Amino acid sequence: MSNALSPEEIESAREDTPGVAHVVHLNHAGSSLPPQPVLDRQIGHLHREGEIGGYEAAAEAIEADHGVYDSIAGLINAKPHEIARVEHATAAWNAGFWSVQMRPGQRIITAEAAYGANAVGFLRAAQRRGVEIDVVPSDSTGQVDLKELERRLDADCALVAITHIPTNGGLINPAAEVGRLARSAGVPFLLDACQSIGQLDIDVDAIGCDLLSATGRKYLRGPRGSGFLYASDRIIDDLITDHPDHHGAKWNRGDGFDLWPGAKRFEYWEYNHASWLALGTAVDYARVIGTDRIEPTVIQRAAQLRDRLHDAQLPVYDIGQRQGALVTTNVPGRDPGEVKAALGAQHINTSVTNPDGTLWDFERRGLAPMLRVSVHYTTTEDELDQAVTALRSL
Ligand SMILES: *Cc1c(COP(=O)(O)O)cnc(C)c1O
Repeated sequence: MSNALSPEEIESAREDTPGVAHVVHLNHAGSSLPPQPVLDRQIGHLHREGEIGGYEAAAEAIEADHGVYDSIAGLINAKPHEIARVEHATAAWNAGFWSVQMRPGQRIITAEAAYGANAVGFLRAAQRRGVEIDVVPSDSTGQVDLKELERRLDADCALVAITHIPTNGGLINPAAEVGRLARSAGVPFLLDACQSIGQLDIDVDAIGCDLLSATGRKYLRGPRGSGFLYASDRIIDDLITDHPDHHGAKWNRGDGFDLWPGAKRFEYWEYNHASWLALGTAVDYARVIGTDRIEPTVIQRAAQLRDRLHDAQLPVYDIGQRQGALVTTNVPGRDPGEVKAALGAQHINTSVTNPDGTLWDFERRGLAPMLRVSVHYTTTEDELDQAVTALRSL
């Protein structure tokens, strides 16, 4: 943990974060508090659009706009042309998922902690493409069972698609081990990194994923309605997008079109320029601090919260060999929606995680809705004390 941020560094990040003066924000897994430079970038661009026109403001910011691809590529050790700009993680995931070619009878391998939107996508693919969904069970620690995964991987698999950190708890799935198994079986690997991007130090080469979906507003502290898809050079030529436009594809004379090389094929011409630019600022902000320093800080803070909840004899539902920033608890006998509201009245932000976010996991573990308390590197121990004291008094 020696690489964690010092209290002084955390204080300086908090000075950049206007929200910490108003709320004890423990809902970073929902939408984090953006730092001031991110707000300035987004609002500044909107002002320019109002002053000189949307196309003209875009032309003025064209270099910064291109620079966002470099920033994101640097964040995850990819190449800029392997990054596509999309509106949010679900759009990224769908763009990647539906571009993977699948034959009827092939299997899609996933795990119990799959995110709800992805699970619905699998079920839709079963209807539309005649593929089978193979949900690998969890091992005794709660993470995806790697032996079982290895046993099921064969040439009949169209895709391995797992969630790195599920929306309903601390579990960190062993993405790099999954990547190694998928790679040696020659099966493409789509990683939902929506909660891990900005929380963990992510390197797509070390993980070995071919596709990675991410959102801006969660641990990257970027704007709502921003995100990206990483699509590796290794498989890009096999990825056929279902609904390309004349930006993602080149419309040739006559009846033809060619998808652009690289991840540009997943993009549409129109987008929210202010959000994209501000996402770039958020990524740069995280890179200046260093995700190798953010990760141990966040993991340490979440462990401190779990300790405090244990001491207060409140339940902790998190599973997994390694656990991250999303902490789930409850006040026995109280509805988590009421608990969230009671905390909200004291300006403490949390959220409620419901079964439809991760239904397979909820069913397997027999879970009821839980209170999710998610920390970030800006969270202080004093804020943890405030939250746990408030929970105890309920
Ligand atoms: C929030 C979340 C998503 C969806 O992200 P959006 O940006 O809302 O589309 C996907 N996967 C996981 C694990 C999430 O927590």
